[in-house]
Amino acid sequence: MISSILENDLRSAVRSIPDYPKPGIVFRDITTLLGNARAFRRAVDELVQPWAGMKIDKVAGIEARGFILGGAVAHQVSAGFVPIRKKGKLPHKRVSVAYALEYGEDEIEMHADALVEGEKVVLVDDLIATGGTAEAAVKLLRQLGADVMAACFVIDLPDLGGAEKLRKLGVPVRTLMAFEGH
Ligand code: AMP
Repeated sequence: MISSILENDLRSAVRSIPDYPKPGIVFRDITTLLGNARAFRRAVDELVQPWAGMKIDKVAGIEARGFILGGAVAHQVSAGFVPIRKKGKLPHKRVSVAYALEYGEDEIEMHADALVEGEKVVLVDDLIATGGTAEAAVKLLRQLGADVMAACFVIDLPDLGGAEKLRKLGVPVRTLMAFEGH
């Protein structure tokens, strides 16, 4: 966990929108954090702080908010950036993993040549809820032989158990703040 002063600073930069996209869900909107220069820089610095000084080959970001944060993190640690996208968006040869949604199934994809076996990869997204998306992303990265060093999220919804799910897969998880509920 990060210091409570920093957490409060960053937390106040996140906008919470009740009943979006459906009743009972509180949408945690990070566009306000991204628009605040100080908060954005701080969030990017803090996301990878435990791995500062370690060699990271690639940062993988999950579509779409993970692209914004992951791109900035990749620049910060002098790593390459790898987009993990929803099915049907990537133009070259792909690998894919399907995962369960509340209703039905979805699929994420990555270019098959986006990384080589043994590369050290950090996964980045804005928020971890049930962990379904991030778990699929870890499987995708491991399919190509990546060494998934960590998964980093600005926001954790611990009641939904996603971070725990990733830790059980042997992936260290870094989050900057937590919100109760969904
Ligand atoms: P999950 O696979 O359940 O961990 O969901 C994670 C993905 O859904 C992330 O890419 C988030 O951007 C998005 N997400 C889930 N719940 C919320 C929420 N309450 N507010 C904002 N984004 C959310």
